[in-house]
This record gives sequence, C-alpha cells and structure tokens, in this order.
Amino acid sequence: MSTTTLTEPPKVETQATEILRIFNVQKQNQFTIGNTTVAQRIVKLKKLHKTVLKYRVQIKEALFNDYKKHPSEVDLTEIYPVISEIKHAKNNLRSWTSKHSVKTPIAMLGSSSHIKYEPKGVVLIISPWNFPINLTLGPLVSAISAGNTILIKPSEITPHATAIMKKIISEVFNENEVALIEGGVKTSTELLKLPFNHIFFTGAPSIGKIIMKAAAEHLTSVTLELGGKSPTIIDQTADITLAAKRIAWGKYVNNGQVCIAPDYLFIHDSKREMFIKEFKKHLEIFYTKNVSEEISYNRIVNKNHFKRIKNYIDDALSKGAKIEAGGNFIENQNFIAPTLITDAPMDSKLMTEEIFGPVLPIFSFTDLDKVIHEINSREKPLALYIYSKNKKNTNYIIANTRAGGTCINHNAAHFFNTNLPFGGSNNSGIGKAHGLEGFKSFSNSRGVLKQHIPNAMDLLTPPYNNFKQKIIDLTIKYF
Ligand code: NAD
Repeated sequence: MSTTTLTEPPKVETQATEILRIFNVQKQNQFTIGNTTVAQRIVKLKKLHKTVLKYRVQIKEALFNDYKKHPSEVDLTEIYPVISEIKHAKNNLRSWTSKHSVKTPIAMLGSSSHIKYEPKGVVLIISPWNFPINLTLGPLVSAISAGNTILIKPSEITPHATAIMKKIISEVFNENEVALIEGGVKTSTELLKLPFNHIFFTGAPSIGKIIMKAAAEHLTSVTLELGGKSPTIIDQTADITLAAKRIAWGKYVNNGQVCIAPDYLFIHDSKREMFIKEFKKHLEIFYTKNVSEEISYNRIVNKNHFKRIKNYIDDALSKGAKIEAGGNFIENQNFIAPTLITDAPMDSKLMTEEIFGPVLPIFSFTDLDKVIHEINSREKPLALYIYSKNKKNTNYIIANTRAGGTCINHNAAHFFNTNLPFGGSNNSGIGKAHGLEGFKSFSNSRGVLKQHIPNAMDLLTPPYNNFKQKIIDLTIKYF
C-alpha cells in the first residue's frame, strides 16, 4: 500500500431494463422472504457476518484503493459497525418480531389488540461514498431483519468498495432477495421511477429532496439520513486536553469526510489559546509532524471534493480568516493537511456549506446565549456536541437547541451505540437508523384487533335513537 496518485473511477451504469427485471423478481418473491421465520433470518445474518469477515482483507484493500483509508480505520469505522449491527439484530430479532400486545380501552371490552411489525416489501437502499461498507451493509442488516427484498445502489465514487460488496452480496443472497445495482445518478434516477415500498437514502440534503420528490410519486415511505453542519460547544468548565484529543480524532478520522464530524466549534474565550495548543499537540501525536507521509491520515475522495474544500479555505482566507494549523495541500494526492481556522466570517463558504473535509473553523465566545442563537439560526444539525463539566450548562444547551443526536464530552461516538436511534431532524434527516429503530424503518407497524365477544360498539350501529345517544354520551364521558 503506497502513496500513489489517485485516479478517478470509471463510470458504470445499469440499464433500466435490467433494473426493472430485478425489481420484478424481487416483487414476486417478497411474500416468501416476508414470511421467513426469525430463525431463517438469523441464518442469513450469520452468513452475512461470516462473509464480511471472510473478505475483511479485501474490504481493506478496496477502501485503500478508493481513498487511501487506513486498514485499521476500515476495521473501526466500516467493519465493526456492521458486525455490531448484525450481532444486535441477532440478539433482539425474536423480541422485535414478536406479537406486541397493547391495552384495550374499556369501551372496547371483549376485544384484544396487538402490533405486528410486517415487512414493507421491496425496498431500496441508496448509500454514499464516505463510509461505503458501513452505510450500505448497516441498513441492509435492518432491512433483512424486517423481512424485505432489497435493492442496493452504492455510490459510484468508491468503485472498489462497490465491487467487494457486490461479491459479498452475490455470495450470500439470490438476486430475488438482495441485489446490488451499480451506477451513479443515471441508475439512481431509473431506480427512483419504480414503486418501491420504502427508500432508505443516505446522502446530502439537496439530493434527499430529489429522493423525497420521486418517492412522493408512488407514496413510497422514506428514511433520509442526511447531513449538514454539526456544531461543537466547549464551555469554560470542560477538560480542554480531553476535548482537544477527542475533537482531533472526530474531525480528522476519514479525513473529515464524516456526516457527524464536528463541522465548526465554539470555545469559551478563556480556554481558546489552551485549546489551540492542545489541539495542535494531538494532531502531531496522531499524524506526526510529517502528516502527508503518515498513512493513518486518509485522502479526500476525489479531485472535485479536493477542489471544493480548497475553495472553501481560499474563500475564508480572502475574507480575513486565519490559519492556526495545517492549510497546506498536495493536489495530485487529494491531500489537505488537518486544518484549524480562526476568524472565518459567517458568510464564508466554510460557514454556509457543510465542510465534509479536514478543516475546522473555531470561534471564541463569552455569552452562551449568543452561541445558541447562532446555532438556532441555521438548519437543525445532524449532531451537536457539548464539552462541559457543568450539568446546568449541558442541560441548558440541550433544552434550547434541536439536533438529530448529541454527545456530551465526546463526538461521533453515539453512532456506535446500536441501542440509540441514529439520524437527523428535518434538513439533517427524516426517520432513524440502527437497532430497533432501523428495523422499524423497514417495517410497517400493523395494528391488529381481534373481536372475541360482542361489545358496546355492536349496540351503537344505525339507526340512531335517544337510547343509543345516551350510551354514546356515557361512553364519551366515562370511557
Ligand atoms: P450524495 O447525496 O451526493 O450521494 C449519495 C447517493 O445518492 C449516491 O449513491 C449517489 O449516486 C446518489 N445520487 C447523487 N445524486 C443523485 C441524484 N441527483 N439523483 C438520484 N441519486 C443521486 O452524497 P455523498 O456525496 O455520497 O455523501 C455526502 C453527504 O452524505 C453529506 O451531506 C453527508 O453529510 C451525508 N451523509 C449522511 C450520513 C448520515 O448517516 N446521516 C452518513 C454519511 C453521509
């Protein structure tokens, strides 16, 4: 594995006729898959688990070829989350799929009710490039657990990852159950013409709107796992060394190409200098002084994204921002050093766009309410991070902001707890992923009522009269 010049991937698209053929075979097969038992679904999850581990080395090679992702980081951020999602589903599937009895109101005495989580049917998963294995196979685990047939369309930007996933999928599943469709926007657009029963999309908010519009044509339900600018607040009580260490990890893991990376940061003025010092120290510990030679530091995925991020830096600098760390780049390697920027104007691209790269703008504050006001003047973030030892401050920030998820004294770590729902709110997402919430996203909660003996409702059928009205009045008043 050497640091060679990165090349752009070739374009592959899947024909509309082929997409329709696979969609139709899955549609025909949906009840067979939908009626599989818990034990049968667990067998599939185990097979997927085994096959992912069988190709662990090849997955690492693929990600290195796509954007020089370090093999250990592939283990931590691609393979581990998928394995953890599989284990969690295996352990909980029996309870998720069991009959969930609910209470019966007195007015409906003589009946019993339960919720049955049934598969939605034929579902589509469209995934991004930034964690191509994790964000494709993770939702796949939820979709399999719920008993769907599944078409997957990974990102065209990481073709090596797609190739190894295609191998894994075709080894574990028949195409009438799970099929991977290769392609970019053209293929995605063809897929979106079909009447899927659910679409699980992970990507940019702007593309999420395209997905939702297309889904509306068929009244297809959607889960949208989107992005945006996730803020971090460090107050005057925080452990600054620990905050600097964790943010240096959370910001530059995967080269900052993380939907829940700290996008911009507010630090209490009294701790600003100490934070910058500690942050630089940890950058050196993680990536050495010679970061362009350090293989633990990945690369930006392609030329377009390299240019986009460099453009954000140049724009901010031209408007008066200052570089505190990094700022240097090597264009033919899509390399930008871990960069820390101060004084970026709020109207610079760095502060109006999702950065999605290794650049962190920081701002100092003295008035927490002004920070909260700034955050609330923007779209609801996917994540909001708080570093503080003060419970009152922490609770105040949580109560007065909105975000998809939050870590206190950490960042990005909430993604790894499968017991927590993961996702955004409005512009950062609709619906949730992981564990039970992921399973529910791919399920219809069917409400089932069984009538055992005649009940009061039987007495209240037309024609209405004074006696029936009296019973209705009593029911409204007492039951
Ligand atoms: P993207 O939206 O450009 O692409 C995602 C997928 O959509 C790809 O498979 C792509 O082929 C497809 N696509 C792109 N344009 C399309 C169009 N016009 N019509 C139909 N399909 C289209 O996103 P990306 O660049 O791969 O990923 C980065 C974005 O994803 C960031 O905004 C990031 O915050 C977000 N993201 C969110 C999460 C999350 O869990 N919430 C995770 C990772 C990334």
